[in-house]
Amino acid sequence: MADCIKCKTWNPDDKLVCWRCQTPLPKPEPPRRKRQLSSTTILLVVGAFFLISWLFFQLFVLSPVGR
Ligand SMILES: [Zn+2]
Repeated sequence: MADCIKCKTWNPDDKLVCWRCQTPLPKPEPPRRKRQLSSTTILLVVGAFFLISWLFFQLFVLSPVGR
């Protein structure tokens, strides 16, 4: 929700230039919370992957392969 620096007109976030005076709009800074959330999500995904790998390993070792 950035206002134009030249004509103070409201512009949507996805607009790169002002719809009224065509002045380039400054890009809004990405929130830091999103970065923390994504890193937490990556940790969760990696943890789930290791857990599933460990479960598969246990099943493979414990299951009888002879028959
Ligand atoms: Zn403008």
